[in-house]
Amino acid sequence: MTKVELEDAVHEMAVDAYLRDLKMPGALREYRELARQAAAGGTGHVVFLKEVLTCEMESRRRNQIAQRLRDARFPYPKNLEDFDFTAAPSVPKAKILDLARGDFVREHENLVLIGPSGLGKTHLGLGISRQVIQQGYRARFTTTLALMDELLSAQSHFELPKCLRLWSRFDLIMVDEIGYVPLSTDGARLLFQFFAEMYERRSLLLTTNLEFSRWPDVFGDPVMTSALLDRLTHRAHLIPLAGESYRFRQARDRVRQGDPHPSAASEA
Ligand code: ADP
Ligand code: MG
Repeated sequence: MTKVELEDAVHEMAVDAYLRDLKMPGALREYRELARQAAAGGTGHVVFLKEVLTCEMESRRRNQIAQRLRDARFPYPKNLEDFDFTAAPSVPKAKILDLARGDFVREHENLVLIGPSGLGKTHLGLGISRQVIQQGYRARFTTTLALMDELLSAQSHFELPKCLRLWSRFDLIMVDEIGYVPLSTDGARLLFQFFAEMYERRSLLLTTNLEFSRWPDVFGDPVMTSALLDRLTHRAHLIPLAGESYRFRQARDRVRQGDPHPSAASEA
């Protein structure tokens, strides 16, 4: 090893140690190769520095999104790319893709997907939430029952304010399946409080199989329900879906083709 090579190796060890201490793994991974390319191509020092920092910025962004996707607690990986819009003519494709750009979240608007079971409401909601995270927002998924249980438990431990603070860290909150099960009086009241707390401060993405006129059946108190609907629908994108269950149709088509057994690939 020549004297120059030895000096270079010492400098690299120092740079490695600094980048580790500064927690800059993206720069650490790439700077040697970028330095080699810069030396070979005669790139200026500022350009080299910018390229190293760009690597670090991109690596941080990727890590942040990966972390936010974990924080979202999605029950399964559904993407808008996997959604077959041709099989769902009632779904306004352009509108869905537009919502997935996340502007409604920046504006603290709500999104309600309404329609019978099996039409892809959960799939669309998960796909939109995932895209919204890619735009740099925080999102979390829950179901009506899970949220109600969480609120009831928080209340019984005198931790409701803490629980509400935790949820308000998210820009978009997806609450799946409103209307499948009637709620207890306490549960309905807490959900009402939850939605009121998030109103115009956060975005809610709700899926429901019930027309709004039937929401009192689930929430009980008609006065409270009407106040709730007032808030939920005030600054909201309402998307009604209609048609036949996607799975039911797939199963029927398979039977017609003489193959009653679902293939593994078509399972969610
Ligand atoms: P809902 O929430 O309206 O009851 P889901 O989103 O759970 O419906 O959809 C049921 C299943 O059918 C899921 O596995 C979903 O991925 C699939 N599915 C529904 N519609 C479509 C579609 N148009 N393209 C692809 N998959 C779909
Ligand atoms: Mg669903």
